[in-house]
Amino acid sequence: MSNILVFTDLDGTLLDHDNYSFRDAIPALKILKNKKIPTILVSSKTQAEMKIIHKEMDLNDCPYIFENGSGIFYNNQIYEFGTSIKTIHKVLLPLMNFYNFKFYSTLPIKKAINLTGLKLEQCKNSQIRLFSEPLIWMDSDISRHKFIKDIETQGLKASQGGRFLTISSHHDKADALKWVKSRYEEGSNSEFTAIGLGDGENDINMINVCNTKILIKNNNAHLKQDDWIMSNMPGPKGWGEEVIKAIKKYE
Ligand SMILES: [Mg+2]
Repeated sequence: MSNILVFTDLDGTLLDHDNYSFRDAIPALKILKNKKIPTILVSSKTQAEMKIIHKEMDLNDCPYIFENGSGIFYNNQIYEFGTSIKTIHKVLLPLMNFYNFKFYSTLPIKKAINLTGLKLEQCKNSQIRLFSEPLIWMDSDISRHKFIKDIETQGLKASQGGRFLTISSHHDKADALKWVKSRYEEGSNSEFTAIGLGDGENDINMINVCNTKILIKNNNAHLKQDDWIMSNMPGPKGWGEEVIKAIKKYE
């Protein structure tokens, strides 16, 4: 096994923002597999959704991180870190009197499909949430900032993804990444290098704890930091190009 780990966001990064395809990244995924470099999916998606994508990508026993770091699939087991969705709803329900938003998990399936463009089964899986609630925000930006402060005082946090403002506990993608990396390092008693790829605000911390930091282009130049690489191409095409360049650096 090589001492490199690839941690990647899905939507807008390894999956095309509009059609959710990863076709253009298949050659790079195969190269990683041949070199025994684990591709670790890190997403706000649910375990039900990620289980299927993980299988479609033929990632076998590679870990994956779901619901923004609240849960981790590692070594064929699920590890839970997040606050339950029941507790999250208890905080959010009274706030509906002051702010205009809807829960994604309880949206009628037709509306959820319209909003996400997902197919029926995928969409149903995306509503099976354990530790996080994506919100459809229908209020102003000023209210959004106030709302975020409100929920923070109650021990929760908000992450702005491509489509939703997702509410969860404080376990984020970066915490989950560090947990997985430590397991690999303990297992082999050696240090690992992490390559991180993402396209959204909720990827910033995750990218920053990696050795190679890659922003996948998606109308997001404002997120780029000085020591980050920005892909030339968006989505899976940019993903493939940048992953190949990055692993060459360590060979
Ligand atoms: Mg994304």
